[in-house]
Amino acid sequence: MSFRSYKDVLKYYMRSERANLQGLENSPYRGRKGQVYVEFVPTRTKLINAFLEAGRILGHPTVDYNAPEKLGFGYVQTTTRSGHRYSVAKAFLHNHKGRRNLHILPSSIVTKVLIDPTSKTAHGIQYVRNHLKYDVRVRKEVILSAGPIASPQLLMMSGIGPKENLNTVGIPVINDLPVGRNLFDHIAFPGIIFKLNTTDVSFIEEKGATLQNILEWLQFGEGILASPGGVEGIGYIKTSVSDDPEEVPDIELISIGGSLVSDGGPHGSKAARRGMMISENVFDKAFGVIDNTDTWSAFPMLLHPKSKGYLELKDNNPFSYPKIYGNYLTDQKDVRTLIAAIRHVITLSETEPFQRLGAKLHRADYPACRGLVFDSDAYWECAIRTLTATLHHQIGTCRMGPVSDPAAVVDPELRVYGVQNLRVVDTSIIPRTTSAHTNAPGIMIGEKAADMIRSTWKNG
Ligand SMILES: Cc1cc2nc3c(=O)[nH]c(=O)nc-3n(C[C@H](O)[C@H](O)[C@H](O)COP(=O)(O)OP(=O)(O)OC[C@H]3O[C@@H](n4cnc5c(N)ncnc54)[C@H](O)[C@@H]3O)c2cc1C
Repeated sequence: MSFRSYKDVLKYYMRSERANLQGLENSPYRGRKGQVYVEFVPTRTKLINAFLEAGRILGHPTVDYNAPEKLGFGYVQTTTRSGHRYSVAKAFLHNHKGRRNLHILPSSIVTKVLIDPTSKTAHGIQYVRNHLKYDVRVRKEVILSAGPIASPQLLMMSGIGPKENLNTVGIPVINDLPVGRNLFDHIAFPGIIFKLNTTDVSFIEEKGATLQNILEWLQFGEGILASPGGVEGIGYIKTSVSDDPEEVPDIELISIGGSLVSDGGPHGSKAARRGMMISENVFDKAFGVIDNTDTWSAFPMLLHPKSKGYLELKDNNPFSYPKIYGNYLTDQKDVRTLIAAIRHVITLSETEPFQRLGAKLHRADYPACRGLVFDSDAYWECAIRTLTATLHHQIGTCRMGPVSDPAAVVDPELRVYGVQNLRVVDTSIIPRTTSAHTNAPGIMIGEKAADMIRSTWKNG
């Protein structure tokens, strides 16, 4: 039982999925009986049609990007049920609250895993609830699923991690492992924005946030509010910078029925700008003149960054945030790949489907990039370094690998090396970057781990 191949993991993706995708009813790659609802977005602008058409003109077929085709463009698919978000908490916790063998303790923070330092065996966890500390003992094993930041933090709080960092913060070392050292993330550049000479073709928050639209969404799950932040299409491309011998993408394009400026204006939420931590000053200088107008954009997301980060403990207080070093764009190849992707988006905008809508690249005036020739590589590098947005796809901080892998923290059955009765089951175990977002891989890991755990304890 391992995660080695597409075939190994496909059945677990399918097991979790309840796909309701028009046109893909007979796809052998999509699950229909799982717990997580997957749909197309019910509301579409003309911009998604232009994106798919432009893609086909440039040789990118329209595909189901959640099937074996690795390259191509498609309509975005979301974990929603009738236009309403369907989270993993809803699917796997809320629906099973009544089970006698499931105890959910809300507002409880785990502070460490209890491990016997002599036998190196996990025997429970410690948690804090309402300022009180509790110990819970386990009969079989501890499964840590706190995510790619908190799982490594908890391992380190419990004495499993790089000995230099643990010694510095005063935590006795139980096992010296490279916890937190293999941090990868997906970053994107949201700053390629095209003005349109056609009005009412894109999502604009101020126009869309009406009582009628709210009621339409609440009642029927339709309308502008059913859109996942304006995302309409996904495209996988391989740029000329890639030296991968296989036909695998190095960039994902996220096509938006609008752009960063679509939620601006005097009453706009500016959620996109604020979520990406773009300062008001930079935003106003770069995009102020097109704020709240009809636009199209496609964010290139770097799928397989060469730049690697890490995280470590700041101190031995479990409530302190760990120190995270993203090290984004420290490898120049990542910059070159993003620039190649930007140029490809510009080429897409020059095709007839976008020209019908009058698409014209906006010349963003970033304060830090003044003096650089617009559209030169130096300008784009500066722009990318100014607007680097994380998609929060952190992985790899409790890397899974064989015993021969010096970077591995857990074995292929997700058991922490050198410690008995302790598994990590979340996206922190993903050893290398995926050509996809990380939510579905996280669910697949959970499904597969369930089989591993059942198999371990099948005899009691
Ligand atoms: C803003 C945002 C947007 C995203 N959008 C997308 C998207 O559109 N598509 C996509 O595929 N992915 C998306 N992702 C990424 C995706 O959500 C994550 O990759 C995925 O949720 C990771 O799953 P996980 O189980 O590893 O960790 P998590 O989902 O983080 O689960 C860890 C859980 O452990 C809990 N926890 C942590 N520490 C403790 C503790 N000490 N005690 C008790 N409980 C604890 C947390 O509260 C959390 O519930 C997004 C992430 C973010 C943050």
